[in-house]
Amino acid sequence: MTTLLNQDNSTKTIKNPADGTIVGTTNYHSADTAREYIERARAKQPEWAATPVKERKKIMLRYHDLVLKHQKELLDLIQDENGKNRRSAFEEVLDSALTARHYAYRAGKLLRSDRAKVALPIATKTRVEHAPVGVVGIIAPWNYPLVLALSDAIPAILAGNTVVLKPDSSTPLTALRAAELFAEAGLPKDVLNVVPGSGREVGQLLVQEADYLMFTGSSETGAKLASQAGERLIGFSGELGGKNPLIVTADADVDKVVSGVRHACFSNTGQLCISIERMYVHRAVADEFIPAFVRCVEKMRIGGGHDWDIDMGSLINEDQADTVAEFVEDAVSKGATVATGGKRLTDLGPAFYAPTVLLNVPEDARLYREEVFGPVVYIEVVDSHEEAIAKANDTDYGLNASVFGKPSTAHKIASQLQAGTVNINEGYGAGWSSVGAPMGGWKRSGVGRRHGDGGLLKYTESRTVAEQRIVPIAGPDGIAPERWAQALTFALKYGRDLMR
Ligand code: NAD
Repeated sequence: MTTLLNQDNSTKTIKNPADGTIVGTTNYHSADTAREYIERARAKQPEWAATPVKERKKIMLRYHDLVLKHQKELLDLIQDENGKNRRSAFEEVLDSALTARHYAYRAGKLLRSDRAKVALPIATKTRVEHAPVGVVGIIAPWNYPLVLALSDAIPAILAGNTVVLKPDSSTPLTALRAAELFAEAGLPKDVLNVVPGSGREVGQLLVQEADYLMFTGSSETGAKLASQAGERLIGFSGELGGKNPLIVTADADVDKVVSGVRHACFSNTGQLCISIERMYVHRAVADEFIPAFVRCVEKMRIGGGHDWDIDMGSLINEDQADTVAEFVEDAVSKGATVATGGKRLTDLGPAFYAPTVLLNVPEDARLYREEVFGPVVYIEVVDSHEEAIAKANDTDYGLNASVFGKPSTAHKIASQLQAGTVNINEGYGAGWSSVGAPMGGWKRSGVGRRHGDGGLLKYTESRTVAEQRIVPIAGPDGIAPERWAQALTFALKYGRDLMR
């Protein structure tokens, strides 16, 4: 990757949230240097679009191999700049390789021209081409520095676009390292440009200059950027916040489900857009489930470091720990009870917070409806599955949902939930790792989708090329318009069944 020096030479030092040690330093770009990256990306794009898809595929598969080869180094870096536990970091490596493999194999088919149905078969021959949009701008958050930065770049690049990516300011090092792996895999210079900088400068420049904007972050920022993209009439995808529900059904086998439910709530220290923040437990199993779940949470090993056995790491910074503490204090002051947790763990590091389970949360508590984005879940007991479904859907969000119970019961509930993904007997992993299926949010959780065929095709413009032969659509010379209209009416009538 080319590294352009900032005009004011400003840099940013990244510290490990778990213990405050310095992880690395990077250029921190102004809008001016970011503009240079965009110009380079724009100049390179036609050449990259002319590179055969087969060649792009080879590069992507080499990237896949390099991610796996450098797995240990990547896991260390992700953990060090983000503070998460190792298993959560591994989910990033897994996703990156999986997404690269999936789209490497799928791109050829998706980008091939398709034949389209026409009004006058034989006389009209129509194909649909898929051209890259140009320069794709990607703005990423800090919670998954590899996945949320690179996994959206993968289909954009395979589709023949060049990419300018702004990672979050607190976690740019992983994205920069991934760009080096792309270069090692053979991706030409200027195709993928990682440009650390602020949202105000670099982010806004992408909003103003890119031909397509892919944003992952809060619903508040997403709404602003969507309206800016709308002003420019460019394509926009927003993967935004969530307040994800989990339902434990009347027929759930409690012993079997508690550890899966725990993972659903506290992965990545709860800083996961698709993790669970509220739970609806059927009264038939509540007396058994609640104490078993609380005991399971109390067994969690919390800490920093690279040990695979740690169940939960640090939050991203002290501000985030303060935010989580404020949410919990507000709920408790309004009558919620703490079943476990509810406190900072400052002896472990400056930004650790205990995994927390709340009961009796009143509706006026902020966290009843707002996203905490931390290791806090509340439980409500419900008298029926219908009540659980109604409560699960009673939200402005609709990103992910989960149902734990007998599959036959869970499937019926799943089809009534208003969410982009519903996981059965899993918190989020089954839906997320189904890379061939769309992933994204209803309501305020998003616009557009990643994954699935649409996750690549959104980075293309369609071009319909239609050739007219034998007879013009308006009718051949020498045939009266009325006769031609009768002929077309006849063709429509008898073609109805043929065209099925
Ligand atoms: P954020 O919206 O504050 O920031 C996200 C990114 O946008 C950062 O890179 C930031 O620098 C940039 N940014 C902020 N303001 C900008 C502006 N005005 N113009 C251009 N760029 C700007 O979000 P956050 O707090 O960093 O991330 C947490 C949120 O992201 C949570 O709500 C979480 O649910 C959501 N999230 C969603 C998904 C998903 O896939 N749906 C995934 C991860 C996180």
